[in-house]
Amino acid sequence: MNAVSAVTAPYDAERVRADFPILAQQVNGHPLIYLDSAASGQRPLAVLRAVERYETHHHSNVHRGVHALSQAATEAFEGARERVRRFLNARSTREIVFVRGATEGINLVAQSLARPRFGPGDEILITGLEHHANIVPWQMVCEQSGCALKVAPIDRRGEVDIGRLLELLTARTRLVAVAHVSNALGTIVPVKRIIEAAHSSGALVLVDGAQAVPHGAVDVRELGCDFYAFSGHKLYGPTGIGVLFGREELLEEMPPWQGGGDMIRTVSFEKSTYNELPWKFEAGTPNISGAVGLAAAMDYLESLGLEAVAAHEQRLLALATAELERMPGIEIIGTAAHKAAVLSFTLRGCHPHDLGTILDSEGVAIRTGHHCAMPVMTFFDIPATARASFGCYNTEADVRALVTALGKAREVFG
Ligand code: PMP
Repeated sequence: MNAVSAVTAPYDAERVRADFPILAQQVNGHPLIYLDSAASGQRPLAVLRAVERYETHHHSNVHRGVHALSQAATEAFEGARERVRRFLNARSTREIVFVRGATEGINLVAQSLARPRFGPGDEILITGLEHHANIVPWQMVCEQSGCALKVAPIDRRGEVDIGRLLELLTARTRLVAVAHVSNALGTIVPVKRIIEAAHSSGALVLVDGAQAVPHGAVDVRELGCDFYAFSGHKLYGPTGIGVLFGREELLEEMPPWQGGGDMIRTVSFEKSTYNELPWKFEAGTPNISGAVGLAAAMDYLESLGLEAVAAHEQRLLALATAELERMPGIEIIGTAAHKAAVLSFTLRGCHPHDLGTILDSEGVAIRTGHHCAMPVMTFFDIPATARASFGCYNTEADVRALVTALGKAREVFG
């Protein structure tokens, strides 16, 4: 994904906004200005309708039924898998595992790949800007297996120190786990470069793509990553559904991580044998309507054009950055050269939670807190930030509303 894309056709954000019914409401007597898409995107009508259609006409359990509804549900679910394969340009649907979200995808790799294979003397390398979902599963594996966790630091702009990362990448490194985009800072991490370096050093790479997939096309073959995890709800799809892409050769060698229905071939009390990919990793009844909704979200986003969306968001980010830079007392946290549509900041003398409450009273929804990235807050020596994040439906008017509401907060705290 690129930070800046050249786009010629005008992008009609007002028309896009009209596709999202939830945005047409008033909050605290003001029109809702939703600037929290990094936490969760809203769903367009196309997604809501696809889920409703599935639930109304096609639902049954998948895979084992011979009756018509079960076959319809299986077709819808496996069709969604093929849709995801195309979205990521993966080789095969055998490489697409449905999970609950990015968190579960990362835990799957931690427990199924790292736990049985890594031990004392082995290292897992992450970076200083990771979300807790890409820290804690590795800490758990380190406790379980005796391997060690190394952290490549970030600098004051919120960029990964690639020089230090390359120094930390040694023959002991078995896996590099890195965010494609930081949720707390917006930094776009040069993952392709990291993947190439890791591979030439003999390490595997997992990319946490939770914040990247809504902001640009991701091609797992072009990236060359071994694993790529993301959540449906940040991509304008439902919650409770996500994807783990894994290279087939690796998934093939990995043991299942949860046991139950669907992941087996045969079961006896003496021994069970396992299903083939990708079902080996999908124990229990899956989130069928979630997968259907996710596929619809991908259709929707591609109909807007990922490049056009990214270029629009970059314009909003540039506008908001310029406006906030001009406001005394505001400090932008995360000033990397390449950022996705995330703007973290603090207001002198005002706790971010108070700021968030004032903005909410103006109908402006931002997120405040540590954004599940406490080590990032520790690095910048702050307890929390306020974070505005932009999606395909945000407009320049939203940025102006943010600036006006911030002006009011500055009158209170300035
Ligand atoms: N990684 C990053 C970078 C994220 O922003 C998030 C969600 N905030 C996650 C992982 C976890 O996603 P989920 O909670 O949907 O599993």
